[in-house]
Amino acid sequence: MKNIKRSWAEPYKMKMVELLKMTTPEHRKKALKEAGYNTFLLKSDDVYIDLLTDSGTSAMSDRQWAGMMMGDEAYAGSRNFYHLEEVVKEVYGYKYLVPTHQGRGAENILSKILIKKGDIIPGNMYFTTTRLHQELAGGKFEDIIIDEAHDPENEFPFKGNVDLHKLEKLIKKYGAGKIPYVSIATSVNMAGGQPISMQNLKELRTLTKKNKIRIIHDMTRVAENAYFIQQKEKGYEKKTIKEIVKEINSYTDGATMSAKKDALVNIGGFLAINEWEIFEEARNMVVVYEGLHTYGGLAGRDMEAMAIGIAESVSADHIKARVGQVIYLGNKMIDYNIPIVKPIGGHGIFVDAKKFLPHIPQEQFPAQTLAAELYLDAGVRTMERGIVSAGRKANGENYFPKLELVRFTIPRRVYTQAHMDVIAESAAYVYDRRKKIKGMKMVYEPKYLRFFQARFQPLK
Ligand SMILES: *Cc1c(COP(=O)(O)O)cnc(C)c1O
Repeated sequence: MKNIKRSWAEPYKMKMVELLKMTTPEHRKKALKEAGYNTFLLKSDDVYIDLLTDSGTSAMSDRQWAGMMMGDEAYAGSRNFYHLEEVVKEVYGYKYLVPTHQGRGAENILSKILIKKGDIIPGNMYFTTTRLHQELAGGKFEDIIIDEAHDPENEFPFKGNVDLHKLEKLIKKYGAGKIPYVSIATSVNMAGGQPISMQNLKELRTLTKKNKIRIIHDMTRVAENAYFIQQKEKGYEKKTIKEIVKEINSYTDGATMSAKKDALVNIGGFLAINEWEIFEEARNMVVVYEGLHTYGGLAGRDMEAMAIGIAESVSADHIKARVGQVIYLGNKMIDYNIPIVKPIGGHGIFVDAKKFLPHIPQEQFPAQTLAAELYLDAGVRTMERGIVSAGRKANGENYFPKLELVRFTIPRRVYTQAHMDVIAESAAYVYDRRKKIKGMKMVYEPKYLRFFQARFQPLK
């Protein structure tokens, strides 16, 4: 009996289910056309399995729902704010908290406070909203992630790492005075949910300390990053997720958080910072953009659900099942020979559209096209992370990112293993007929974050 494998399983059971609508191919064809072939513009009712994002799509626990009933909706000084403040300090270790309606609210305030016109903000790969707020504040983003991150085939376990030489070059070129902070994401979203190692973070801390540069942490998926450190980095096998999360944060000076990811809530975020002066300014500025500093655009009940969700997010059983499900789907796709980004990341599977559809040039949006085809096949909604998401430079030219990906993002605690099977089988079916697929042209392009609202037409 020694060779019997031990499977992971969910550390919860179901108390309520949400019924899904099944659709026909004809229905999906019509719905996709109406949506301008952009999966962001589909109605949720027309989708069977929704992998558009893991943002705000998690299932809350019975405890979080109970917390919702404990909402203190006082305009000022809600007790849920103080609970959240206590949990952020306890679990994440940052000193001061400013709640915001979601991650970008925190990015806006932080960018406005720290960035002056002409500043440089180095980061381990860009993220859409993060970079936009840096640019709107007058800064320029510079990518300092290691080259391996741009290669979907490279199996280096910590593709979220910073190339310290790239950072040193920037410091030499511009001077440390022009760099208000280094922007570091854990579980780098645009690289495929790839983690940064503790070793790299420590070295980055040493280098930035020497040059008196802050590190601001995009901690949206810090627990998932901590899991990979525990599984893959020497010396961390016996540490708990909670200990690793706290150690990561201890090498940084502050953080922006989209609690809609790791923290298992449908809405919410915050800015956390260790410097009193920045906190004071942020606490003042939040009144302009979000709401009073003890609610920041959130209801009391939202803050309560967030406080409980943060504590659940660093539990060992939770994170093992969460990442375990993603790895299960990734391995199924590998079995079908579908080209995916490796190693498998923490929050989703990223299919390499350049490899999947090599006959479609990047100007004809291979990833956008593939996302549309996947929806047509079985009603699975994915999203583009390639040239459309990358947008245009300040001078109007398109960015041409090396990675042209379709993201299958897995909501937390929502879908079953049978759903994962259906998703992989549908992707395999589309892969089988890939040679018949043609590219698309963009027929409407909005000015900001175009991937959300752009419209397309299939090429003849
Ligand atoms: C989602 C996300 C954000 C922005 O947060 P919102 O809550 O969507 O505003 C920032 N950084 C990363 C890495 C994200 O995934």
